Amino acid sequence: MSKYAMAIDLRACIGCHACTIACKSEHDIPIGTWRCWVKEVEKGTFPNTRREFLPVLCNQCDDAPCQNICPTKALFRRNDGIVDLDPEWCIGCKSCIAACPYDQIFIDPNTSTAEKCNFCSNRLEADLEPACVVVCPTECRVFGDLEDPDAKINKLLTHEPHNVRKPEYNTSPNIYYVNGSQQLLDPTKPMQSGIYKQGEMSEELKQSVPEFKNDPQESRTVYDTFHNIPWDKNIITYLMTKGASTGLLILSLFLWWVGYKSSLFSFWMPILSGVLLTVTGYVLITDLKKPERFYYILLRSNWNSWMAWGTWFITLKGIFILLWLLGAMADNNGFLDFILWPTILLSFLSSIYTGFFFAQASARDLWKGSENTIDIGVLSILKGAAILAFFVIIFPVADKANVLNTLGNVITVCTLLHFSILMFSILLHRFGSVAHERSIELILKGPFKKEFWNGAIIAGCAVPMFIFWWIGYNYFTFLLSSTLIVLGSYYWDKIWVQAGQKVPLS
Ligand code: SF4
Ligand code: SF4
Repeated sequence: MSKYAMAIDLRACIGCHACTIACKSEHDIPIGTWRCWVKEVEKGTFPNTRREFLPVLCNQCDDAPCQNICPTKALFRRNDGIVDLDPEWCIGCKSCIAACPYDQIFIDPNTSTAEKCNFCSNRLEADLEPACVVVCPTECRVFGDLEDPDAKINKLLTHEPHNVRKPEYNTSPNIYYVNGSQQLLDPTKPMQSGIYKQGEMSEELKQSVPEFKNDPQESRTVYDTFHNIPWDKNIITYLMTKGASTGLLILSLFLWWVGYKSSLFSFWMPILSGVLLTVTGYVLITDLKKPERFYYILLRSNWNSWMAWGTWFITLKGIFILLWLLGAMADNNGFLDFILWPTILLSFLSSIYTGFFFAQASARDLWKGSENTIDIGVLSILKGAAILAFFVIIFPVADKANVLNTLGNVITVCTLLHFSILMFSILLHRFGSVAHERSIELILKGPFKKEFWNGAIIAGCAVPMFIFWWIGYNYFTFLLSSTLIVLGSYYWDKIWVQAGQKVPLS
Protein backbone atom coordinates (compact mmCIF):
# COMPACT_ATOMS: atom_id res chain seq x y z
CA MET A 1 0.00 0.00 0.00
CA SER A 2 1.29 3.50 -0.85
CA LYS A 3 2.09 6.17 1.70
CA TYR A 4 2.48 9.49 0.00
CA ALA A 5 4.70 12.24 1.40
CA MET A 6 6.60 15.31 0.24
CA ALA A 7 10.08 16.61 0.98
CA ILE A 8 10.80 20.28 0.35
CA ASP A 9 14.44 21.23 -0.06
CA LEU A 10 14.47 24.80 1.25
CA ARG A 11 18.00 25.34 -0.08
CA ALA A 12 16.48 25.40 -3.55
CA CYS A 13 13.28 27.39 -2.91
CA ILE A 14 13.47 30.87 -4.49
CA GLY A 15 10.11 32.14 -3.20
CA CYS A 16 8.56 32.53 -6.66
CA HIS A 17 5.06 31.50 -5.43
CA ALA A 18 4.46 29.47 -8.60
CA CYS A 19 3.23 26.59 -6.41
CA THR A 20 0.63 28.84 -4.78
CA ILE A 21 -0.68 29.95 -8.17
CA ALA A 22 -0.66 26.42 -9.64
CA CYS A 23 -2.64 25.15 -6.65
CA LYS A 24 -5.17 27.98 -6.91
CA SER A 25 -5.59 27.32 -10.61
CA GLU A 26 -5.85 23.52 -10.26
CA HIS A 27 -8.51 23.66 -7.53
CA ASP A 28 -10.23 26.96 -8.28
CA ILE A 29 -9.31 28.38 -4.87
CA PRO A 30 -11.07 31.74 -4.25
CA ILE A 31 -9.22 35.00 -3.66
CA GLY A 32 -8.18 35.46 -0.02
CA THR A 33 -7.90 31.71 0.70
CA TRP A 34 -5.08 29.22 0.14
CA ARG A 35 -4.51 25.47 0.15
CA CYS A 36 -0.78 26.16 0.04
CA TRP A 37 1.31 29.30 0.22
CA VAL A 38 4.89 30.45 0.79
CA LYS A 39 5.73 32.29 3.99
CA GLU A 40 8.78 34.57 3.96
CA VAL A 41 11.03 35.40 6.90
CA GLU A 42 13.96 37.83 6.98
CA LYS A 43 16.90 37.23 9.30
CA GLY A 44 19.74 39.45 10.52
CA THR A 45 20.34 43.20 10.14
CA PHE A 46 21.48 45.23 7.18
CA PRO A 47 23.83 44.58 5.41
CA ASN A 48 23.96 41.00 6.72
CA THR A 49 20.38 40.03 6.01
CA ARG A 50 18.90 36.98 4.43
CA ARG A 51 15.39 36.06 3.30
CA GLU A 52 14.14 32.49 3.69
CA PHE A 53 11.06 30.86 2.20
CA LEU A 54 8.75 28.25 3.68
CA PRO A 55 6.19 26.61 1.39
CA VAL A 56 3.39 25.29 3.62
CA LEU A 57 0.58 22.85 2.88
CA CYS A 58 -1.40 20.18 4.71
CA ASN A 59 0.95 17.68 6.36
CA GLN A 60 -1.42 14.72 5.75
CA CYS A 61 -0.72 13.88 9.41
CA ASP A 62 -0.68 10.20 10.39
CA ASP A 63 -2.56 11.15 13.56
CA ALA A 64 -4.71 13.97 12.18
CA PRO A 65 -6.50 16.10 14.80
CA CYS A 66 -8.76 17.52 12.07
CA GLN A 67 -10.05 14.05 11.26
CA ASN A 68 -10.66 13.17 14.91
CA ILE A 69 -12.70 16.29 15.67
CA CYS A 70 -14.81 16.32 12.47
CA PRO A 71 -18.30 15.42 13.76
CA THR A 72 -19.67 14.07 10.47
CA LYS A 73 -16.64 12.11 9.20
CA ALA A 74 -16.41 14.55 6.27
CA LEU A 75 -12.65 14.37 6.83
CA PHE A 76 -11.35 10.87 6.24
CA ARG A 77 -8.12 9.02 5.49
CA ARG A 78 -7.62 7.38 2.12
CA ASN A 79 -5.80 4.06 1.74
CA ASP A 80 -2.72 5.92 0.49
CA GLY A 81 -2.50 7.93 3.74
CA ILE A 82 -3.90 11.18 2.33
CA VAL A 83 -6.33 13.01 4.64
CA ASP A 84 -9.15 13.96 2.29
CA LEU A 85 -12.44 15.79 2.64
CA ASP A 86 -15.89 14.93 1.33
CA PRO A 87 -17.61 18.33 0.97
CA GLU A 88 -21.00 16.62 0.65
CA TRP A 89 -20.89 15.80 4.38
CA CYS A 90 -19.24 18.99 5.63
CA ILE A 91 -21.51 21.17 7.77
CA GLY A 92 -19.00 24.04 7.99
CA CYS A 93 -18.60 23.83 11.77
CA LYS A 94 -14.95 25.02 11.60
CA SER A 95 -13.86 22.54 14.28
CA CYS A 96 -11.19 21.18 11.93
CA ILE A 97 -9.79 24.71 11.59
CA ALA A 98 -9.58 24.95 15.38
CA ALA A 99 -7.92 21.52 15.54
CA CYS A 100 -5.24 21.82 12.84
CA PRO A 101 -2.00 22.96 14.53
CA TYR A 102 -0.65 24.02 11.12
CA ASP A 103 -3.42 26.38 9.98
CA GLN A 104 -4.04 24.30 6.86
CA ILE A 105 -7.84 24.29 6.60
CA PHE A 106 -10.18 27.09 5.63
CA ILE A 107 -13.80 27.60 4.66
CA ASP A 108 -14.27 28.04 0.92
CA PRO A 109 -16.42 31.19 0.60
CA ASN A 110 -18.00 29.83 -2.61
CA THR A 111 -19.15 26.48 -1.23
CA SER A 112 -19.29 27.29 2.53
CA THR A 113 -17.54 23.98 3.22
CA ALA A 114 -14.04 23.24 4.50
CA GLU A 115 -11.13 23.05 2.04
CA LYS A 116 -7.64 21.62 2.35
CA CYS A 117 -4.80 20.19 0.32
CA ASN A 118 -5.18 16.51 -0.60
CA PHE A 119 -1.93 16.20 -2.56
CA CYS A 120 -4.04 16.76 -5.72
CA SER A 121 -5.66 13.33 -5.36
CA ASN A 122 -7.52 14.04 -8.63
CA ARG A 123 -4.14 14.19 -10.40
CA LEU A 124 -2.67 11.21 -8.55
CA GLU A 125 -5.54 9.07 -9.81
CA ALA A 126 -4.49 10.07 -13.36
CA ASP A 127 -0.83 9.18 -12.58
CA LEU A 128 0.16 12.85 -12.40
CA GLU A 129 2.12 14.52 -9.62
CA PRO A 130 0.56 17.34 -7.54
CA ALA A 131 0.31 20.68 -9.37
CA CYS A 132 2.69 22.43 -6.95
CA VAL A 133 5.36 19.80 -7.64
CA VAL A 134 5.30 19.90 -11.44
CA VAL A 135 5.27 23.71 -11.58
CA CYS A 136 8.24 24.25 -9.22
CA PRO A 137 11.08 25.70 -11.39
CA THR A 138 13.86 24.56 -9.03
CA GLU A 139 12.37 21.12 -8.32
CA CYS A 140 12.66 21.75 -4.60
CA ARG A 141 9.44 19.78 -3.97
CA VAL A 142 10.01 16.03 -4.10
CA PHE A 143 6.81 13.98 -3.95
CA GLY A 144 6.65 10.22 -3.67
CA ASP A 145 5.70 7.01 -1.97
CA LEU A 146 7.54 6.34 1.31
CA GLU A 147 6.81 2.61 0.85
CA ASP A 148 8.86 2.58 -2.37
CA PRO A 149 12.58 2.22 -1.44
CA ASP A 150 13.64 3.51 -4.88
CA ALA A 151 11.53 6.66 -4.66
CA LYS A 152 13.51 9.91 -4.95
CA ILE A 153 11.95 11.17 -1.72
CA ASN A 154 13.39 8.23 0.23
CA LYS A 155 16.87 8.86 -1.18
CA LEU A 156 16.67 12.56 -0.29
CA LEU A 157 15.44 11.88 3.24
CA THR A 158 18.10 9.19 3.74
CA HIS A 159 20.97 11.50 2.82
CA GLU A 160 19.86 14.92 4.04
CA PRO A 161 18.99 15.97 7.59
CA HIS A 162 15.38 17.10 7.69
CA ASN A 163 12.66 18.17 10.09
CA VAL A 164 8.92 18.79 10.22
CA ARG A 165 6.70 21.60 11.48
CA LYS A 166 5.83 21.37 15.21
CA PRO A 167 6.92 17.79 15.96
CA GLU A 168 5.86 18.39 19.60
CA TYR A 169 2.20 18.09 18.56
CA ASN A 170 2.78 14.38 17.84
CA THR A 171 0.72 14.38 14.65
CA SER A 172 3.43 12.62 12.56
CA PRO A 173 3.45 15.08 9.64
CA ASN A 174 4.29 13.84 6.13
CA ILE A 175 5.82 17.06 4.79
CA TYR A 176 9.56 17.07 5.44
CA TYR A 177 11.78 20.14 5.21
CA VAL A 178 15.45 19.98 4.32
CA ASN A 179 17.39 22.90 5.85
CA GLY A 180 14.41 24.39 7.71
CA SER A 181 15.55 26.81 10.42
CA GLN A 182 13.59 27.24 13.66
CA GLN A 183 12.80 30.87 12.80
CA LEU A 184 11.15 29.59 9.66
CA LEU A 185 9.36 26.52 10.97
CA ASP A 186 8.22 27.90 14.34
CA PRO A 187 5.60 30.66 13.83
CA THR A 188 6.13 32.05 17.34
CA LYS A 189 9.80 32.88 16.67
CA PRO A 190 9.87 35.74 14.12
CA MET A 191 8.65 39.21 15.01
CA GLN A 192 5.37 40.30 13.41
CA SER A 193 6.09 43.95 12.71
CA GLY A 194 2.93 44.72 10.75
CA ILE A 195 5.17 45.64 7.79
CA TYR A 196 5.50 43.20 4.91
CA LYS A 197 7.86 43.51 2.00
CA GLN A 198 4.94 44.80 -0.09
CA GLY A 199 4.03 47.47 2.49
CA GLU A 200 1.97 47.81 5.66
CA MET A 201 -0.51 45.05 6.52
CA SER A 202 -4.22 45.77 6.35
CA GLU A 203 -5.88 46.40 9.73
CA GLU A 204 -7.78 43.10 9.32
CA LEU A 205 -4.55 41.17 8.79
CA LYS A 206 -2.83 42.93 11.70
CA GLN A 207 -5.57 41.79 14.08
CA SER A 208 -4.91 38.17 13.23
CA VAL A 209 -1.23 38.36 14.20
CA PRO A 210 -0.72 39.99 17.61
CA GLU A 211 2.75 41.32 18.18
CA PHE A 212 4.99 39.59 20.70
CA LYS A 213 8.23 40.85 22.12
CA ASN A 214 10.43 38.85 19.76
CA ASP A 215 13.81 40.24 18.80
CA PRO A 216 13.36 41.97 15.42
CA GLN A 217 17.12 41.71 14.81
CA GLU A 218 16.82 37.95 14.80
CA SER A 219 13.94 37.36 12.38
CA ARG A 220 10.87 39.08 10.97
CA THR A 221 7.90 37.72 9.02
CA VAL A 222 7.79 39.71 5.78
CA TYR A 223 5.12 37.79 3.88
CA ASP A 224 2.25 35.68 5.12
CA THR A 225 -1.45 35.07 4.50
CA PHE A 226 -4.57 35.86 6.50
CA HIS A 227 -5.03 33.57 9.52
CA ASN A 228 -8.47 32.29 10.38
CA ILE A 229 -9.90 32.61 13.88
CA PRO A 230 -12.79 30.16 13.62
CA TRP A 231 -14.56 30.62 16.95
CA ASP A 232 -15.72 33.93 18.40
CA LYS A 233 -18.96 35.63 19.55
CA ASN A 234 -21.31 32.72 18.86
CA ILE A 235 -19.11 30.32 20.80
CA ILE A 236 -18.91 32.75 23.74
CA THR A 237 -22.72 33.01 23.72
CA TYR A 238 -22.96 29.21 23.53
CA LEU A 239 -20.74 28.86 26.62
CA MET A 240 -22.88 31.35 28.53
CA THR A 241 -26.35 30.02 27.61
CA LYS A 242 -25.45 26.34 27.82
CA GLY A 243 -23.75 26.82 31.19
CA ALA A 244 -26.69 28.76 32.63
CA SER A 245 -29.18 26.19 31.27
CA THR A 246 -27.24 23.37 32.94
CA GLY A 247 -26.81 25.08 36.30
CA LEU A 248 -30.45 26.17 36.47
CA LEU A 249 -31.75 22.70 35.68
CA ILE A 250 -29.43 20.79 38.00
CA LEU A 251 -30.02 23.12 40.97
CA SER A 252 -33.80 23.37 40.46
CA LEU A 253 -34.23 19.61 40.18
CA PHE A 254 -31.97 19.07 43.17
CA LEU A 255 -33.94 21.56 45.31
CA TRP A 256 -37.18 19.86 44.22
CA TRP A 257 -35.71 16.45 45.12
CA VAL A 258 -34.65 17.55 48.63
CA GLY A 259 -38.18 18.72 49.36
CA TYR A 260 -38.74 22.26 48.06
CA LYS A 261 -41.82 21.36 46.00
CA SER A 262 -42.35 24.83 44.53
CA SER A 263 -43.50 25.11 40.89
CA LEU A 264 -40.52 27.45 40.43
CA PHE A 265 -38.21 24.43 40.67
CA SER A 266 -40.42 21.79 39.09
CA PHE A 267 -41.77 23.84 36.20
CA TRP A 268 -40.68 27.44 35.61
CA MET A 269 -36.92 26.96 35.93
CA PRO A 270 -36.91 23.82 33.72
CA ILE A 271 -38.79 25.94 31.16
CA LEU A 272 -36.15 28.67 31.42
CA SER A 273 -33.43 26.02 31.14
CA GLY A 274 -35.13 24.70 27.99
CA VAL A 275 -35.34 28.21 26.53
CA LEU A 276 -31.62 28.77 27.19
CA LEU A 277 -30.87 25.37 25.63
CA THR A 278 -32.92 26.35 22.56
CA VAL A 279 -30.93 29.59 22.29
CA THR A 280 -27.74 27.49 22.58
CA GLY A 281 -28.90 25.24 19.74
CA TYR A 282 -29.89 28.24 17.62
CA VAL A 283 -26.52 29.92 18.16
CA LEU A 284 -24.64 26.71 17.33
CA ILE A 285 -26.66 26.05 14.18
CA THR A 286 -26.37 29.61 12.91
CA ASP A 287 -22.60 29.45 13.51
CA LEU A 288 -22.39 26.61 10.96
CA LYS A 289 -21.48 27.65 7.44
CA LYS A 290 -24.00 25.05 6.24
CA PRO A 291 -26.75 25.42 8.88
CA GLU A 292 -29.25 23.46 6.79
CA ARG A 293 -27.04 20.38 7.25
CA PHE A 294 -26.89 20.50 11.08
CA TYR A 295 -28.68 17.15 11.43
CA TYR A 296 -25.80 15.39 9.60
CA ILE A 297 -24.06 15.26 13.02
CA LEU A 298 -26.80 12.92 14.25
CA LEU A 299 -27.03 10.99 10.98
CA ARG A 300 -23.32 10.35 10.59
CA SER A 301 -21.80 10.78 14.04
CA ASN A 302 -18.05 10.45 14.38
CA TRP A 303 -17.70 8.82 17.81
CA ASN A 304 -14.12 10.09 18.06
CA SER A 305 -15.43 13.65 17.98
CA TRP A 306 -16.50 15.38 21.19
CA MET A 307 -18.63 17.69 19.08
CA ALA A 308 -20.70 14.69 17.98
CA TRP A 309 -21.02 13.47 21.58
CA GLY A 310 -21.98 16.98 22.70
CA THR A 311 -24.69 17.23 20.07
CA TRP A 312 -26.19 13.98 21.33
CA PHE A 313 -25.98 15.13 24.97
CA ILE A 314 -27.68 18.45 24.14
CA THR A 315 -30.38 16.75 22.06
CA LEU A 316 -31.13 14.15 24.75
CA LYS A 317 -31.12 16.82 27.43
CA GLY A 318 -33.73 18.75 25.43
CA ILE A 319 -35.88 15.60 25.17
CA PHE A 320 -35.59 14.94 28.91
CA ILE A 321 -36.53 18.56 29.73
CA LEU A 322 -39.67 18.08 27.63
CA LEU A 323 -40.47 14.81 29.42
CA TRP A 324 -39.89 16.50 32.76
CA LEU A 325 -42.26 19.35 31.89
CA LEU A 326 -44.94 16.88 30.76
CA GLY A 327 -44.53 14.99 34.05
CA ALA A 328 -44.71 18.26 36.02
CA MET A 329 -47.88 19.36 34.18
CA ALA A 330 -49.48 15.95 34.88
CA ASP A 331 -48.35 16.28 38.51
CA ASN A 332 -46.91 12.76 38.22
CA ASN A 333 -44.26 12.75 40.96
CA GLY A 334 -43.46 9.06 40.41
CA PHE A 335 -42.50 9.75 36.80
CA LEU A 336 -40.50 12.84 37.82
CA ASP A 337 -38.61 10.77 40.41
CA PHE A 338 -37.90 8.19 37.71
CA ILE A 339 -36.36 10.65 35.22
CA LEU A 340 -34.75 13.02 37.75
CA TRP A 341 -31.24 11.53 37.82
CA PRO A 342 -31.00 10.76 34.08
CA THR A 343 -32.01 14.39 33.43
CA ILE A 344 -29.39 15.70 35.87
CA LEU A 345 -26.73 13.38 34.41
CA LEU A 346 -27.47 14.44 30.81
CA SER A 347 -27.44 18.06 31.85
CA PHE A 348 -24.06 17.59 33.52
CA LEU A 349 -22.64 15.79 30.47
CA SER A 350 -23.97 18.49 28.13
CA SER A 351 -21.93 20.96 30.16
CA ILE A 352 -18.58 19.27 30.69
CA TYR A 353 -18.18 17.73 27.22
CA THR A 354 -17.20 21.26 26.13
CA GLY A 355 -13.93 20.93 28.06
CA PHE A 356 -13.05 17.75 26.14
CA PHE A 357 -14.24 19.33 22.87
CA PHE A 358 -12.00 22.39 23.30
CA ALA A 359 -9.08 20.15 24.31
CA GLN A 360 -9.65 18.20 21.08
CA ALA A 361 -9.17 21.48 19.18
CA SER A 362 -5.53 20.68 19.66
CA ALA A 363 -4.12 23.62 17.71
CA ARG A 364 -4.67 25.77 20.79
CA ASP A 365 -2.54 24.98 23.83
CA LEU A 366 -4.53 27.23 26.19
CA TRP A 367 -7.46 24.80 25.96
CA LYS A 368 -5.49 21.66 26.80
CA GLY A 369 -5.42 21.72 30.62
CA SER A 370 -7.80 19.19 32.18
CA GLU A 371 -8.67 21.78 34.85
CA ASN A 372 -10.64 23.60 32.13
CA THR A 373 -13.20 20.80 32.02
CA ILE A 374 -13.70 21.02 35.80
CA ASP A 375 -13.99 24.80 35.54
CA ILE A 376 -16.68 24.55 32.86
CA GLY A 377 -18.74 22.33 35.18
CA VAL A 378 -18.18 24.66 38.16
CA LEU A 379 -19.03 27.76 36.10
CA SER A 380 -22.27 26.13 34.92
CA ILE A 381 -23.44 25.63 38.49
CA LEU A 382 -22.25 29.13 39.42
CA LYS A 383 -24.13 30.80 36.55
CA GLY A 384 -27.23 28.73 37.32
CA ALA A 385 -27.12 29.55 41.05
CA ALA A 386 -26.68 33.28 40.38
CA ILE A 387 -29.69 33.37 38.03
CA LEU A 388 -31.80 31.09 40.24
CA ALA A 389 -31.18 33.32 43.29
CA PHE A 390 -32.69 36.23 41.37
CA PHE A 391 -35.89 34.25 40.62
CA VAL A 392 -36.15 32.90 44.17
CA ILE A 393 -36.15 36.51 45.41
CA ILE A 394 -38.99 37.66 43.12
CA PHE A 395 -41.05 34.41 43.11
CA PRO A 396 -43.26 33.35 46.05
CA VAL A 397 -41.34 30.33 47.38
CA ALA A 398 -41.95 28.56 50.68
CA ASP A 399 -38.91 28.54 52.97
CA LYS A 400 -37.31 31.29 50.91
CA ALA A 401 -34.64 32.07 53.52
CA ASN A 402 -33.41 28.46 53.58
CA VAL A 403 -33.36 28.20 49.79
CA LEU A 404 -31.39 31.44 49.51
CA ASN A 405 -29.03 30.24 52.21
CA THR A 406 -28.40 27.04 50.20
CA LEU A 407 -27.88 29.03 46.99
CA GLY A 408 -25.56 31.45 48.80
CA ASN A 409 -23.42 28.52 49.97
CA VAL A 410 -23.38 27.04 46.45
CA ILE A 411 -22.34 30.43 45.00
CA THR A 412 -19.60 30.84 47.62
CA VAL A 413 -18.11 27.37 47.09
CA CYS A 414 -18.30 27.57 43.28
CA THR A 415 -16.80 31.07 43.18
CA LEU A 416 -13.88 29.97 45.35
CA LEU A 417 -13.39 26.87 43.18
CA HIS A 418 -13.57 28.89 39.95
CA PHE A 419 -11.11 31.45 41.35
CA SER A 420 -8.69 28.70 42.46
CA ILE A 421 -8.86 26.94 39.08
CA LEU A 422 -8.23 30.23 37.23
CA MET A 423 -5.23 31.04 39.43
CA PHE A 424 -3.82 27.54 38.93
CA SER A 425 -4.47 27.52 35.21
CA ILE A 426 -3.16 31.02 34.45
CA LEU A 427 -0.42 31.51 37.05
CA LEU A 428 0.90 28.02 37.79
CA HIS A 429 0.07 25.41 35.17
CA ARG A 430 2.73 25.37 32.44
CA PHE A 431 2.97 22.89 29.55
CA GLY A 432 6.46 23.90 28.46
CA SER A 433 4.96 25.07 25.18
CA VAL A 434 5.76 28.47 23.69
CA ALA A 435 2.24 28.82 22.27
CA HIS A 436 0.77 28.31 25.76
CA GLU A 437 3.19 30.87 27.24
CA ARG A 438 2.14 33.33 24.56
CA SER A 439 -1.57 32.91 25.33
CA ILE A 440 -0.88 33.46 29.04
CA GLU A 441 1.19 36.53 28.16
CA LEU A 442 -1.78 37.93 26.22
CA ILE A 443 -4.05 37.39 29.23
CA LEU A 444 -1.74 38.74 31.92
CA LYS A 445 0.06 41.52 30.06
CA GLY A 446 -1.57 41.92 26.65
CA PRO A 447 -4.95 42.98 25.26
CA PHE A 448 -6.93 40.79 27.71
CA LYS A 449 -5.25 42.14 30.87
CA LYS A 450 -8.07 44.50 31.95
CA GLU A 451 -10.86 42.04 31.15
CA PHE A 452 -9.07 39.31 33.09
CA TRP A 453 -8.19 41.22 36.25
CA ASN A 454 -11.10 43.71 36.40
CA GLY A 455 -13.79 41.54 34.81
CA ALA A 456 -13.12 37.87 35.53
CA ILE A 457 -11.22 38.14 38.83
CA ILE A 458 -12.27 41.33 40.66
CA ALA A 459 -15.89 41.71 39.44
CA GLY A 460 -16.54 38.00 38.90
CA CYS A 461 -14.92 36.53 42.03
CA ALA A 462 -13.41 38.96 44.56
CA VAL A 463 -16.21 41.54 44.94
CA PRO A 464 -19.09 39.00 45.23
CA MET A 465 -17.13 37.07 47.86
CA PHE A 466 -16.30 40.24 49.75
CA ILE A 467 -19.94 41.38 49.71
CA PHE A 468 -21.18 38.03 51.07
CA TRP A 469 -18.44 37.94 53.70
CA TRP A 470 -18.88 41.57 54.79
CA ILE A 471 -22.68 42.00 54.65
CA GLY A 472 -23.96 38.41 54.52
CA TYR A 473 -26.84 36.96 52.51
CA ASN A 474 -29.75 39.33 51.83
CA TYR A 475 -31.77 40.36 48.78
CA PHE A 476 -29.47 43.25 47.99
CA THR A 477 -26.23 41.24 48.24
CA PHE A 478 -27.71 38.41 46.16
CA LEU A 479 -28.81 40.77 43.39
CA LEU A 480 -25.46 42.57 43.31
CA SER A 481 -23.29 39.46 43.61
CA SER A 482 -25.33 37.49 41.07
CA THR A 483 -25.08 40.28 38.51
CA LEU A 484 -21.31 40.56 39.01
CA ILE A 485 -20.85 36.77 38.82
CA VAL A 486 -22.70 36.52 35.50
CA LEU A 487 -20.67 39.49 34.18
CA GLY A 488 -17.38 37.98 35.40
CA SER A 489 -18.14 34.58 33.89
CA TYR A 490 -18.91 36.28 30.56
CA TYR A 491 -15.48 37.95 30.64
CA TRP A 492 -13.74 34.68 31.40
CA ASP A 493 -15.59 32.79 28.64
CA LYS A 494 -14.65 35.57 26.21
CA ILE A 495 -10.98 35.58 27.21
CA TRP A 496 -10.76 31.80 27.10
CA VAL A 497 -12.20 31.61 23.59
CA GLN A 498 -10.33 34.57 22.12
CA ALA A 499 -6.90 34.46 23.80
CA GLY A 500 -6.56 30.79 22.92
CA GLN A 501 -6.76 31.63 19.23
CA LYS A 502 -4.49 34.67 19.12
CA VAL A 503 -1.18 32.85 18.77
CA PRO A 504 -0.04 32.40 15.15
CA LEU A 505 -0.12 28.80 13.93
CA SER A 506 1.79 29.12 10.68
S1 SF4 B 1 -4.24 18.44 11.10
FE1 SF4 B 1 -3.87 20.03 9.56
S2 SF4 B 1 -1.94 19.44 8.61
FE2 SF4 B 1 -2.69 17.62 9.71
S3 SF4 B 1 -3.91 16.47 8.20
FE3 SF4 B 1 -5.34 17.84 9.24
S4 SF4 B 1 -5.37 19.70 7.95
FE4 SF4 B 1 -3.57 18.54 7.37
S1 SF4 C 1 -15.99 22.16 8.94
FE1 SF4 C 1 -16.74 20.66 10.46
S2 SF4 C 1 -17.87 19.15 9.24
FE2 SF4 C 1 -16.59 20.33 7.78
S3 SF4 C 1 -14.71 19.15 7.58
FE3 SF4 C 1 -14.36 20.65 9.20
S4 SF4 C 1 -14.89 19.57 11.11
FE4 SF4 C 1 -15.77 18.39 9.41
